Amino acid sequence: MNSAGNHNAKCSRHSDSDCDKAAAREVIKAHDSEIDRRRQGNGDGDRARDGTYGLPLNSNAIGSVLDVADYEKLRAKVVSREDELSFDARYRSRASDMERRVDEIIRRVRKEDEILFSGQVPRKGYHGQLHPRFAGDHFLSNVDLIGETGLFKIASMMPKGAHLHNHFNACLPPYVLLDIAKGMDRMFITSNIPLICKGKGEDKFENFDKCEIQFSIMSPDKEDAGDLFSPRYQSRQTMKFSEFLNRFSTYYTRADVGTDDKTKADKWLLHKLLFQEEEAYDHLQTASGAWEKFNGRTRMMKGLFNYVTAYRSYTRQCLEDFARDNIQYAEIRPTMMASNYIYSDDGSTTIDNEGIMEIIIKEVEDFQRAKAQENKFFGGLKVIYCTPRSMLPEQVKDALDECRRFKKKWPRWIAGYDLVGEEAKGYPIREFIPQLLDFRRKCAEENLDIPFLFHCGETLDLGTETDGNLVDALLLGSKRIGHGFALANHPYIMQQMKAKGICLELCPISNEILGLTPRVNGHTMYQLLANNVHCTVNSDNGALFRSSLSHDFYQVMVGKKSMGLYGWKQLVMWSLEHACLEDEERKDITRHWEMLWREFLINVIEWYEKRERETAVEEKSKM
Ligand SMILES: [Zn+2]
Repeated sequence: MNSAGNHNAKCSRHSDSDCDKAAAREVIKAHDSEIDRRRQGNGDGDRARDGTYGLPLNSNAIGSVLDVADYEKLRAKVVSREDELSFDARYRSRASDMERRVDEIIRRVRKEDEILFSGQVPRKGYHGQLHPRFAGDHFLSNVDLIGETGLFKIASMMPKGAHLHNHFNACLPPYVLLDIAKGMDRMFITSNIPLICKGKGEDKFENFDKCEIQFSIMSPDKEDAGDLFSPRYQSRQTMKFSEFLNRFSTYYTRADVGTDDKTKADKWLLHKLLFQEEEAYDHLQTASGAWEKFNGRTRMMKGLFNYVTAYRSYTRQCLEDFARDNIQYAEIRPTMMASNYIYSDDGSTTIDNEGIMEIIIKEVEDFQRAKAQENKFFGGLKVIYCTPRSMLPEQVKDALDECRRFKKKWPRWIAGYDLVGEEAKGYPIREFIPQLLDFRRKCAEENLDIPFLFHCGETLDLGTETDGNLVDALLLGSKRIGHGFALANHPYIMQQMKAKGICLELCPISNEILGLTPRVNGHTMYQLLANNVHCTVNSDNGALFRSSLSHDFYQVMVGKKSMGLYGWKQLVMWSLEHACLEDEERKDITRHWEMLWREFLINVIEWYEKRERETAVEEKSKM
């Protein structure tokens, strides 16, 4: 390159830097304006904008502050500006006395919980290195201890508003479904490989670990009898579940399922259904590896609830579970497809999507009636019509047509539409643009409000078709998006989404177990929240992750040291604001939620004070 070329390159680099600085000043100016707006909202006349955008931008100006007192003043100013912009600042500044008290209790309880964790035996790692336990470590490593913490107790007590992202095939602990299955005469179990294999010692259990189990209700004509415990067993031959349970303990003699022959099969099946710590955090594990296990488990769960008795009971118990977890309203995501139709109990006939909707509606109405009789409130449930993203465009078109039909038939019950399944596999949203645009047009013509609530950005892949789904979700006018983990890496789309009021459905435990972050503090939600992106907290597929919504709220808090009650409150308020509710419904649920919130504050204070008194008595008796 000649000298002129070099010179030009230098100049353009120089102007690039100036350009970047100017752009940053514009952003700072926007932040300062936002602080002004927030202060005015609170009736505070003090203006943040002082012409220097909060801080002298010339580094010499900072260097000229030699006095420690001046330096501290400047530092306090910067910290306070950042605090004023934080996502929980509004509820902090508007807090009632009781809220301030509960926030203080949460801070104390978190310190006590840290002692609970650090008091455990450290874990041994590579070359014997000792790793002390701590809150905020891997969820599956901590899950048993979390149940003993004060913070989890408070999270469980909190009224959580709307639960907006949970798949209707994995909301309930699997043992509930296994118990129902045991009572079914036509319940069969199948495997992809024989369970027993040649080998000695541990080797002979290899197939028990590797096999993929499935369940199915079956009419006699569909049976293809085989013996899972025979080496000659062929893939997916059927065995009566009752026979399997009777014979299991003869073949599976490992100690990990205990000594009671009657419960050995249960323990083994539950182990297969739930994510294990060693599996999720193995150093060789990847997001796609975790998804492979996830998909296998979803297939295993499917046969346990896709027949009338189980489906009704499952729906009913899910509702009870929501109420127990202090959820006031939920939007569930059943995947509507022919292979998900449910069977009659004898396996002879199937019930289609319309029949499934009828079952859900009846169960919800019965449940709400029962709750009302007990003088308890449950604000209801709606269905997000979901299609797997592995479907072909023609199939998606049919599904969208059915979704519109359902909305016309049950306007109050259909919340929106979504495409589900592993985002890196299956088709990107872009594949279905003609069908989705056509759907939008027809909805407008027919005056139907069916918002898109797309799963997107649930990925570590950047600059690919997968995170490209965020662009399509934006352009197609999504009301909310599921996950949005990758959004933090797309600042322009992030601001566009904020401007359009698009809210995120965070699923922190799901993201950790499916390989997006090893621990919750590495989750991108903290960047997104720091940018004031509206977010809600959700459990996604809690049944497989050994979690409830309370666990997800717990995790959000332990991942950030400075978070407290106001952060939780903002997340709950956003869930109510962004739920697919009519104005009247939202008003009604919010009114009830406010009453429950007051009760919650009182209950936390009483619980904590009682605990303090008991601890004081204990201490005294030790002296
Ligand atoms: Zn999901």
